[in-house]
Amino acid sequence: MTGVATALLVPLLPKISPARAAAIGVTEIAPGVFVHQGRFADVNPDNGGDIANLSFIVGTDAVAVIDTGGSAKIGLTVKDAIAAITPLPVRYVINTHMHPDHVFGNAAFKSADTAFVAHHKMARGLATRAEGYLARNKEWMGDDNFAGTEIVLPTQAIAEKRTLELGGRTLTLQPRATAHTDNDMTIFDEATGTLFTGDLIFANRVPTIDGSIVGWLKVIAQLKNEQAQRVVPGHGPTSMSLSDGLTPLDRYLNAIASDVRAAIKDGKTLASTVETAALSEKDNWLLFDEHHKRNVTAAFAELEWE
Ligand SMILES: [Zn+2]
Repeated sequence: MTGVATALLVPLLPKISPARAAAIGVTEIAPGVFVHQGRFADVNPDNGGDIANLSFIVGTDAVAVIDTGGSAKIGLTVKDAIAAITPLPVRYVINTHMHPDHVFGNAAFKSADTAFVAHHKMARGLATRAEGYLARNKEWMGDDNFAGTEIVLPTQAIAEKRTLELGGRTLTLQPRATAHTDNDMTIFDEATGTLFTGDLIFANRVPTIDGSIVGWLKVIAQLKNEQAQRVVPGHGPTSMSLSDGLTPLDRYLNAIASDVRAAIKDGKTLASTVETAALSEKDNWLLFDEHHKRNVTAAFAELEWE
C-alpha cells in the first residue's frame, strides 16, 4: 500500500504531539494507532504487571483497545491515555490471548457499552486457569498493584475471520490455530496496514510456549504471507517490520524443535535435553534463563509423541 493510499483511508483524527503521547505513556506508531510498550521483565512489584504491549486504535466513531495490561490499575492508565486523546467511547476491548499480562486490565473497561472480544477458545482457557493466574500475579506484583483486578471474560467469541468497524477504519480479526496458546488471535488495521500479533511474536525477550511448538511454526509460516506495513508484537518494540519480528522467533523455535527431535531420536532423557537444547540461542534473548528450559520441556512432551 502506498503512502498516498494510506492517507486516504485513515479517517481525520485529532492530532496529538509526540511529546504529549510520551507523557501519557504511548507512542503513535501510525495515524490513530497508539501503543504503550511493556517492560522486558517478568511480573514484579516494580513493574506491577506492565510487561506487555498494549494498543488502541481510534476511528471516527469509537475506539478499540487491544490488550489491557497485567492489572486493573494498568488498564486504568490505558483508559486515561485514551481519554487524553479522544472523547470517543471504547466500543471494543480485544484480547489477543488469555495470558494475565494481556487481559487483567480488562476490569478497567467494564461498561454496558463495551464489548469484550477474543478467540472463541479464550473464555474456557482463562476460566480454567483463573484461580492460579489471580493468586500468582497477586503474589508477584503485590496487593496494592493488584487491587481491583478480576477476570473479565469475553462477551463476543470469535470462531472465524470477521471485521469490526470503528468509523472510517475496519479491523479484521483472525483467530489462529494453537500456537503460543490455544486461543491466539491477530488483528489487522486495514487503514494503516498494522498487524497486531499478540504473543505470536515476541521480540527482545524469550518467547514462551503454552500451546504447541509445531502449531506455532505453522502459524509463523502463515504470518510470513501477511501483507503488513508493520507489526505490533506482544512483547518487544512498539512497532517493527513483519520479517524483523518473525525471523528470530522462527530461528529460536526451529532450534528447539530440531535439537529436541534429535535428542528423542538418540534416546536422551528430558533431564539431559533441557541442559543442552538450543543453547546456541542463549545470547539472543532477554530472560532466557528464566523460561528456556520450560520451553524445551514443553517441546519435549509434545514431540516425543510424533
Ligand atoms: Zn502470552
